[in-house]
Amino acid sequence: MSVISDVIDKVKQTDPGQKEFHQAVIEVMETLEPTVDKHPEFVKAGIYERIVEPERVIIFRVPWTDDNGKVHVNRGFRVQFNNAIGPFKGGLRFHPSVNLGIIKFLGFEQIFKNSLTTLPMGGGKGGSDFDPKGRSDDEVMRFCQAFMRELSRHIGPETDVPAGDIGVGAREVGYMYGYYKKLKNEHTGVLTGKGLEYGGSLIRPEATGYGTVYFAIEMLANRGLDFKDKVVAVSGSGNVAQYAIEKVNEMGGRVISVCDSGATVIDESGIDMEKCCFLMALKNVHRGRVSEFAEKYHAACFDGKNVWDVIREQGIKVDIALPCATQNELDAQNAEALVNNGCICVAEGANMPSTPEAVRVFRENNILYGPGKAANAGGVATSGLEMSQNSLKLSWSREEVDNRLRTIMKNIHNSCLDAAEVYGKKGDYVSGANIAGFVKVANAMLAYGVV
Ligand code: NDP
Repeated sequence: MSVISDVIDKVKQTDPGQKEFHQAVIEVMETLEPTVDKHPEFVKAGIYERIVEPERVIIFRVPWTDDNGKVHVNRGFRVQFNNAIGPFKGGLRFHPSVNLGIIKFLGFEQIFKNSLTTLPMGGGKGGSDFDPKGRSDDEVMRFCQAFMRELSRHIGPETDVPAGDIGVGAREVGYMYGYYKKLKNEHTGVLTGKGLEYGGSLIRPEATGYGTVYFAIEMLANRGLDFKDKVVAVSGSGNVAQYAIEKVNEMGGRVISVCDSGATVIDESGIDMEKCCFLMALKNVHRGRVSEFAEKYHAACFDGKNVWDVIREQGIKVDIALPCATQNELDAQNAEALVNNGCICVAEGANMPSTPEAVRVFRENNILYGPGKAANAGGVATSGLEMSQNSLKLSWSREEVDNRLRTIMKNIHNSCLDAAEVYGKKGDYVSGANIAGFVKVANAMLAYGVV
């Protein structure tokens, strides 16, 4: 038995219920096989066994009161996974599906993603099973304050720097940062994704969506292709999806889909900038549903359906797919339909949106496939730039941050390809991203000895 399969077996035995975490560990570990032969020192130092075990897991009670005075209790999580190359860093997710296995999968992925950015950030993730949908601003504020009351004991600008994720945007970050400041009497860069007025960075809201498109641009360029006149399917309609749509438009592509957990909208005439602005206001200000978008623009609306199911069932041809909603949204059947209809490129704005079987379909068919930990790393990279600006106590211009983001995405793309080639997997972005991210963290862990 190899060290890799031993580690996978142990994870499954130790945490039997954590299926998303198992999926993430298997996906990474299986591609690390070539590093085992090349680095006997990693095996000797137990790096493979140690990297799948979080440094620390914090689970806490979050009691809060709704507008009618009723008391609710949610569960809060922070998984501080690995701080070998910098403070723990990773978002907070507020969604009813949140559990320890999901937070561990996200935290584990974050280790390699953050390493790929070349910035000094370790991996972590957190969140709660709280659902902000349908809650008033006051209720969301009280929840965020209750959540921060406990989280504040465990984070700090040099220790652990959370950010947003699903269900945590500018509003939630504002409430949490305000409460942290109140509790600690400190104005420090303890969260990223902050408002511009209180330490946020220009381009941070745009960064994950823009970065995903920048990564796709690099992959396409490798085959002499670009976004011009391409039909692009996007899933989701939140932060990542919105700015991916904006950037695709800028690059001359035509986006034909969005979704939320209620419905999928197909708009074959293209979601142009006017429609994209409407979508942003609908989602970020009015907190509405994509079905209202369909109504306004007379687009097709499929209730209760996911984008990739609709694209398969309707036989819609797309050139480029950008899954930007959630984990495991795109399965093998849908991947086959995309490939059979001529899709050339998939870049993941979301974390682990393609099932392992779907990934196999993309890889076997030689599709340009950019896994989330590489393709969506622009968000955390720009969070890293926000941390730098906070430390320097200055703010960079929009152009400066965007140029840095563009360069980082290009470098991530190239380091994936370089690592893939060095470890005998030429052209394979999955192996390249995992290996490049892993080797840097492993070397740092090696340097520290057994700690
Ligand atoms: P948001 O909360 O802003 O948006 C999430 C979107 O996905 C919403 O439209 C939501 O619909 C939809 N969605 C969620 N679950 C489902 C589901 N089961 N079926 C269909 N639609 C669903 O989150 P983000 O845009 O920030 O995050 C999207 C993805 O990108 C996540 O995987 C996240 O981890 C990843 N990511 C985010 C980064 C960031 O900087 N924000 C950085 C890197 C990765 P509804 O409104 O109905 O809930």
